[in-house]
Amino acid sequence: MVNWREIECWLPASYLNKLKAIVPAHASHGPDQCVLPEADREFSVAYAYNALCEFKTEASDNHWKQVWKLQVQERVRCFIWLLVHDRLATRKRINNMHMGDPYCYHCGDVIETALHVLRDCPLAVRVWYNMVDTKYWEIFFNVNMQQWVDINLRMCFGKEDVKQWSAAYWATTCHYLWFLRNKMTHGSDNVLPTRPWDEIHMRCQLYAQLVSKDVMKQQVNKCLADIRWKVPKEGWISINTDGAAKGGTCARCGGVLRGEHGEWISGFSKNLEVCSAYVAELWGVFEGLKIARARGFRKIELQVDSQVVVNTLATDRSGSSDGWTLVHNIKRLLELDWEVSILHEANSVADALANLACLSDGDMVVYESCPPQVRNCFHADLF
Ligand SMILES: [Zn+2]
Repeated sequence: MVNWREIECWLPASYLNKLKAIVPAHASHGPDQCVLPEADREFSVAYAYNALCEFKTEASDNHWKQVWKLQVQERVRCFIWLLVHDRLATRKRINNMHMGDPYCYHCGDVIETALHVLRDCPLAVRVWYNMVDTKYWEIFFNVNMQQWVDINLRMCFGKEDVKQWSAAYWATTCHYLWFLRNKMTHGSDNVLPTRPWDEIHMRCQLYAQLVSKDVMKQQVNKCLADIRWKVPKEGWISINTDGAAKGGTCARCGGVLRGEHGEWISGFSKNLEVCSAYVAELWGVFEGLKIARARGFRKIELQVDSQVVVNTLATDRSGSSDGWTLVHNIKRLLELDWEVSILHEANSVADALANLACLSDGDMVVYESCPPQVRNCFHADLF
């Protein structure tokens, strides 16, 4: 016999409900057998997993998408995530863990659940009355917790003058009500704002403004991205590499080796025909390191135009299966007796050399001096 009271504070109600509906296994039930919701369907692990989790049929399982799409501060998003999973540390929950009493600090004799704090407590009711249109009150105040979250993530209940009402607005309000509840319960300051909805309104507006400014800033930064050559440390040489592929075809890579004063040591371009951009980037790194090693350089600053490649080389992981062999070969090279520091840095010369590969028929071309097609780019890179 399962003692549900003992475990109800540890698992969300939706999970408990699923557990309750499952008959515990017993020898008398006979041997195991494969059962699928659609009897004529062929078995696959993915299908069985989705069917078991009911990803497609249960609305609450789709909440996570809506929650992570909310245009709100990260802390608000995380708060709603906890709410959706019924994980808020309400007094009822804390009391279930044998700590404190379960009653609302504001009401005194009502058990404090998440729904009470965020909707039914007189303090919350006052806030919602000022925001939610009267024609929606019946549904808004009479559904259970899961339904309440669900309708608020999908629908708008704002009054006519609350034009900016959205799921984000609802989420910000919930978070603010929780903040007020914490202030009352734990803080020394028990003075509550007379018009909390003004504060909520201001928070929503401020966030919207910051987001639009941030987007603009990102766009400006993108335009001004500096891809000039980064000077290596004294006594070191630099290798800049780049790889590209358009739709998996015309894949190519290129790279340039330069001394600490920017002088040309060597360059290369390689036609790779068909592979992913990631594999092309790996090829650039591999060929660049091989040239540097063969020429006896032992202090290398490797500047790679791919954050993914930099990350893969910095960890023990081997990356995706299509680049696995290259990653292992590069890591073997890196383990030799030399110093190689790797950083993420885009470079226009490496990019131009990679593009030269598309013009050549051969496999790999090594340039002992700067090729004419890249000369302007090479000089511009130094200043
Ligand atoms: Zn209350």
